Amino acid sequence: MHNTVRRPFLCLVSLILPLLAACGDGAQVTSMQVFTGARLIDGTGAPPIENAVVIVDGGQIVAVGEAGTVELPRGIETVDLRGRTLIPGLINSHGHVGDVRGLEAGQYSRENVLDQLALSARYGITTVVSLGDDREEGVVIRDEQAAGQSLDRARLFVAGPVLNPATPEDAARLVAEDLAMNVDWVKIRIDDAMGSARKMSPEIYEAVITEAHRAGLPVAVHVITLEDAKRTVAAGADFVAHSVRDQPVDDELIALMRERRICLSPTLTRELSTFIYGTRPAFFDDPFFLRDADPAVIAQLENPDRQRRIRESASAKYWEERMPIAMKNLTRLSDEGVRIAMGTDSGVATRFQGYFEHLELELMVDAGLTPMQALVAATGDAASCMGLDASLGTIEPGKRADFVVLTSNPLDDIMNTREIESVWIEGKRIER
Ligand SMILES: [Zn+2]
Repeated sequence: MHNTVRRPFLCLVSLILPLLAACGDGAQVTSMQVFTGARLIDGTGAPPIENAVVIVDGGQIVAVGEAGTVELPRGIETVDLRGRTLIPGLINSHGHVGDVRGLEAGQYSRENVLDQLALSARYGITTVVSLGDDREEGVVIRDEQAAGQSLDRARLFVAGPVLNPATPEDAARLVAEDLAMNVDWVKIRIDDAMGSARKMSPEIYEAVITEAHRAGLPVAVHVITLEDAKRTVAAGADFVAHSVRDQPVDDELIALMRERRICLSPTLTRELSTFIYGTRPAFFDDPFFLRDADPAVIAQLENPDRQRRIRESASAKYWEERMPIAMKNLTRLSDEGVRIAMGTDSGVATRFQGYFEHLELELMVDAGLTPMQALVAATGDAASCMGLDASLGTIEPGKRADFVVLTSNPLDDIMNTREIESVWIEGKRIER
């Protein structure tokens, strides 16, 4: 956020002053690209443009419109996208990046972060907001992407460690550490872990929120219950990072969230991941999953003893019962005008980065959202909910040229987000 807000201004200046045409640090050579003929879904929720022109310069979108309404620059390479659908690069508003390798946690390294961001990009996820377990290497990578260089991986934003202070003084100290680390978000967890831990008290999270806001940092809250969602939003929380899963949402929460313009990330795939491996999931046969899956990990998840332990586990049963509540609540909140930001809580073992974002979109539509609503939640609204909309989230002039070319229309069937022909980040086509 610190780093995405300033650059569009430089880039706008560059439109006026051709001599300054490189955006960011000046390392990037200006290159114009023209994309023609696609059906454009721009991420704002507006109806698609059936025969669109998108002009990109130096990795930034400079003009968008229906063919015939946009003046085409002469002598510029044109990418013919007839028969294709162009959507903004997908944004995961609640992921985790760098901690897991295979099914092993605690594997954080620069290499792992970069590998996982490259994996996300191959799946059309061009931005991941990592809400916790982030370390210095992630902050460095976040800063490198702000330099205006061409990117071969998803953009990353970070929250640092998930804070768990014991006292209000402790809260101030931990927020100061987050600030020193230069995180984009502060993340806290309000959860008694099915009765096995002490839940953070209101006094503590109110102190975190106050200190974070004083430092200019937004706060994302992990909650499960309606009561905790209401209390944390009333206390000033800026983002509800999971569905309410204990009971139906009520008018009071809806009014609070609307009034404060607070978004929610449903993370339905998080729920799914707790019980789906009790048997062999159908997606183990999906070529779109298999193209980037590790056969050794699949073999581990197909182990009959492991499957039986999950089928018999109390926690799998607990979450499976709550998933339909989460899905109903998603539809209600969306119908009532609360903005939804697609998130998966992936990057935790068994929650597969890249693939799970597409599975999440499928579940959101299963829950009752239209494909357009699901797409907006994964693009324009995800960006505005996460404070990234100055430069990301939609295909509009002034935004970075992050987009996905699909061979089928996702408005006909949300499963068509998997029909990826190419992925572009900062105007550069990603190797897939
Ligand atoms: Zn999470």
